[in-house]
Amino acid sequence: MASEPPVTNPLVYLDHAATTPLDPRVRSEMEPWLSSACGNPSSLHSAGRRARAAIDLARERVARLIGAEPAEIVFTASGTEADNLALAGSVARRGGLVTSAIEHPAVIETARSLGSAGLSVSFVAPRVDGVVHPDDLTAALAGGAGLVSIMAANNVVGTVQPLPELARAAHAAGALFHTDAVQAAGKLPLEVRDAGIDLLSMSAHKMHGPQGVGALFVREGLELEPIVRGGGQERGRRSATENVAGIVGFGAAAGIAREEMAAEAVRLVVLRERILETLGERLPCAYLIGDRFRRLPGHLCLGLAGLENEAITLLLALDERGIAVSSGSACSSRHAGQPSHVLAAMGFDPIRARGSLRVTLGRFTTDEDVERFLDALPAVAAALRPVTSRPFHERSPA
Ligand code: PLP
Repeated sequence: MASEPPVTNPLVYLDHAATTPLDPRVRSEMEPWLSSACGNPSSLHSAGRRARAAIDLARERVARLIGAEPAEIVFTASGTEADNLALAGSVARRGGLVTSAIEHPAVIETARSLGSAGLSVSFVAPRVDGVVHPDDLTAALAGGAGLVSIMAANNVVGTVQPLPELARAAHAAGALFHTDAVQAAGKLPLEVRDAGIDLLSMSAHKMHGPQGVGALFVREGLELEPIVRGGGQERGRRSATENVAGIVGFGAAAGIAREEMAAEAVRLVVLRERILETLGERLPCAYLIGDRFRRLPGHLCLGLAGLENEAITLLLALDERGIAVSSGSACSSRHAGQPSHVLAAMGFDPIRARGSLRVTLGRFTTDEDVERFLDALPAVAAALRPVTSRPFHERSPA
């Protein structure tokens, strides 16, 4: 049988908030665990002990990325699972959850499910710049809560939240503080002790590590009810045979991110600002959504005044030119074209909440990639203009 043609990566990949390419240095550390090395970390023989040692090293590296102790890291199968464990595992014990209206579905859906099971759940709205204000959190906590969950950086808009102030507000009300740092970890310095964080979720594939492995930081001494039960791995907090290659890759990715974060952030901010300034000249209808500077280094969410209904068409036209960006309208193709709950919570009307583009840069994004995008976006937008200038009822539905 003829083999499938290899999947080729788009030439210009600007969708790093969705997932990041595996760093070759990470891949080479994973390689032995995908080929010759074999051992269940729970086995007593030397092959098992080698796998255990590899996991221990990865745990140390992941812990160091956020200023935690290795024993405070629980490996999971994803950022989504880490969020589920944080909310269900701690709220189940303490009762009452306050979260924000701009969280990833991994938090929002878990919160809704806990709400349906009878827990008190409330959602704080961000201000128009995409930032959750600590005073608004304090007000939402007036009725009391056991847990607050506010993300470190938003996946749609890229805005960064004031974690220490939010954690202080949570603690003042007697609640624990969880943050979904899936987008922020490896890109921004995070120090769990300084910031007063009790629980923190991460995911390897957002920092040039492999897909399908995440971690939850659980502050020492904090009790957590497992959501995956079985053989008692991860100190009983997350049973299942460990994904050794994935965890090794996560450790490698965390180590590299920690080393290179500061220089990389500067490089990405320069590229990001170049995109904004150049689009200001070449595509004046494009505007930035969310606070200009309080954002992830490589993250832009662009509104397109007058082209809101064409965001998906623009995305596909860019794709035809070998440029991968994302629609800011929703986090997945399953919801493409629907208004974003994040933009809606920031006060955008349904039209504007549907029509944005998310452009996210990463470690392998080059100046040339950015130039190609800056040439292509105004060109594909110009090609759409005749369509958009027709009366709305004459246009095909978006
Ligand atoms: N939280 C945020 C903020 C995210 O952006 C994502 C993924 O896009 C997740 C959680 C889910 O992580 P994972 O893809 O590892 O399940």
